[in-house]
Amino acid sequence: MNLDDTIVAIATPAGRGGIGVVRLAGAESKVIAGRMLHLAGGRALEAGRALFGELLEIESGERIDEVVATWFAAPHSYTTDEIVEISCHGSPVVLRRVVEMAMAQGARLAEPGEFTQRAFLHGRLDLTQAEAVRDLIDSQTVYQAKVAARQLKGSLSHALLPVKEKLVALIARLEAGIDFAEDDVAVMAAEEILAAMEEVRATLRGLEASFAFGKVVHEGLTLAIVGRPNVGKSSLFNQLVERERAIVTALPGTTRDLVIETVALGGIPVRIVDTAGIREALEREREGERERERLDEAEHIGIRKSMEALADADLVLVVLDAGAGLTGVDRELLADVANRAAIVVYNKMDLNQADLGERGELPAAAHLPVVRTSALTGEGIAELRAEILRTVRGSAAQDGGAMLTNLRQQGQVQASLAALSAAASSVQNAVPHEMVLLDLYNGLRALDELTGATTADDILNLIFSTFCIGK
Ligand code: GDP
Repeated sequence: MNLDDTIVAIATPAGRGGIGVVRLAGAESKVIAGRMLHLAGGRALEAGRALFGELLEIESGERIDEVVATWFAAPHSYTTDEIVEISCHGSPVVLRRVVEMAMAQGARLAEPGEFTQRAFLHGRLDLTQAEAVRDLIDSQTVYQAKVAARQLKGSLSHALLPVKEKLVALIARLEAGIDFAEDDVAVMAAEEILAAMEEVRATLRGLEASFAFGKVVHEGLTLAIVGRPNVGKSSLFNQLVERERAIVTALPGTTRDLVIETVALGGIPVRIVDTAGIREALEREREGERERERLDEAEHIGIRKSMEALADADLVLVVLDAGAGLTGVDRELLADVANRAAIVVYNKMDLNQADLGERGELPAAAHLPVVRTSALTGEGIAELRAEILRTVRGSAAQDGGAMLTNLRQQGQVQASLAALSAAASSVQNAVPHEMVLLDLYNGLRALDELTGATTADDILNLIFSTFCIGK
């Protein structure tokens, strides 16, 4: 991929729309666009101004469309190249014609993501910001968009910057102690080095902890609703989904297949899986082979899917019938989820005010949060939503702060932490500083993968500026 090429692409989605935008980036973009534009009043393109005009066939001068053209002069553009955006009416043939004409004039069709890649290669965005552009475009909820916009503005890089500065400062002092020993640079004491490292590690640990929530914001989560037949799983599902989607019936165990619906809960995409039918089908399976054979093929697939959904779920709602008291199956279910993220729901509170919890009947799951609901009246549903969000957020993420949102970012922070912990044990074991530095550089390199490289010059500059050694 040549960075000097002028590239062109339709920037708006495929299909018809009110407006469609073609974007040109590269040194020739202004000249190429100029040949197909006739701007009102015979004006030329002006930097940072949207100008009205006509789109013309370059060869014949025939009018194709009325357009608005905007020139973003280098380096104040998305990619830092010269960029021209032509907003046409959103007809796919018109947009394609603009691209064809641009290509006939020497532009090349842009590769997917090439505009953002250029912005990165030109240092306009770091990798976390480039990832944020993709996240922003992919966002399914406004909350996701806001998180991505924060990262696009550099929230993660800003959080990492002071960490990196501290790490570089530590590296510089250790390097100085080795290289310029004769210049009276004091060798750092082990406690001092460890304290400096601990500061860096604490911040990184906080960031690493943010990944649990960042991942949920980014990818959403799966919530499985389990419980005995007829406790109100489908009704709760409908309340959460706010639509009459699953079929509700008074006969026990009629929802055989998985019903899945994705909703935005507090801006987080939540895949809600109604696993009604798991239990009784399981019980039938336990009754023996002959009985199992009677389960038809489709039902088998349904059960398998239910079990997979339950195993994959990030969060489980265990629904109990508040009026009925705990049965053996309830106890079994509670024991199953005791060690995972789960919420106990006492449903049908409108029928019975009895409190199962007060009777101390949650043996294995006494630590789980409990919410009382009536799927019939809607009572307690808001509380249930709030509890789901609370459980998902955990204590890790503070709203508005920087967080890791993908595996790549988590991997780099973990790699950095691992290197720093190796460095710390080296210091404790009085290993020579040359060796400690290797680990510190590894820790720094992992962070560089997130925010961009620290060059040897950066470290040298710091050595010389802070230690006044360059006599
Ligand atoms: P599922 O088998 O667990 O999915 O249970 P359903 O959602 O199909 O509900 C079974 C029956 O209980 C239906 O007749 C519902 O209308 C009723 N039901 C569900 N939730 C409540 C509730 O909170 N209060 C009352 N009174 N009835 C409910």
